[in-house]
Amino acid sequence: SRTIIYVITPTYRRPEQVAELTRLSQTLMLVPDLHWLVVEDAVSPTRRVLSFLDSCSVPHTYLLGTASRRYKGANKPRGVSNRNAGLKWVKVHAKDGVIYFADDDNTYDYRIFDEIRMTRQVSMFPVGLVTRLGVSTPIVSSGKLVGFYDGWIAGRRFPVDMAGFAVNVQFYLKRNAPLMPYSVGFEEDGFLKALRIKPEEIEPLAENCTKILVWHTRTVKTQPAVKMPDTDKVTKTNL
Ligand code: UDP
Ligand code: MN
Repeated sequence: SRTIIYVITPTYRRPEQVAELTRLSQTLMLVPDLHWLVVEDAVSPTRRVLSFLDSCSVPHTYLLGTASRRYKGANKPRGVSNRNAGLKWVKVHAKDGVIYFADDDNTYDYRIFDEIRMTRQVSMFPVGLVTRLGVSTPIVSSGKLVGFYDGWIAGRRFPVDMAGFAVNVQFYLKRNAPLMPYSVGFEEDGFLKALRIKPEEIEPLAENCTKILVWHTRTVKTQPAVKMPDTDKVTKTNL
């Protein structure tokens, strides 16, 4: 049988939530041998998420990964408590496989999962729509990682997006299953450093990082009707 991919998806309650999860789930339906960890940043489960999962055909586990209040608000890391709850689940339940962090609002070509499945330690690949440069990607020469192209290097050893790498479970466990740090902008770098992987050991995927198979799309937030004084007050019309 194939290697299982553990897809860890942070999510939180908002009007777009079930729409995002629906789109993502229907990509994941195209991928065999995958286990979806839907991890919600909430104090208690959102009922419409549970009912969405009830009829979701992707093998999944629902977890709560509540962010403490000091990690909420502007310029706070988003999704870290969720990802760490997912990582703790993997540590307890998985012996092998591959871990991938898939935010609920990104766009995934299902073919990225065939690539991810090959990860032996840590793999990397391009992510579209990251910063104004339009792409964040490892730079590969003769099949080896030689650098990174990213709009925000900021002294990071691994200037990559959350959606741009995958980690083998056995390797993760051998490295004592580190968690992700709560430091804005440095979540990926902190986690990858904790895995003690050398840059030259990184496995480039997606045809030596020449193909974009995942995009960091962002959804426009629905404005609550009460906060739209400029719009037409008429919301109902009779025949
Ligand atoms: N997220 C969360 N709690 C929050 C805000 C975001 O769990 O308070 C999740 C969100 O669902 C997404 C991930 O964390 O999967 C990253 O958040 P977002 O997409 O808002 O960040 P961006 O991509 O804009 O950096
Ligand atoms: Mn996002």
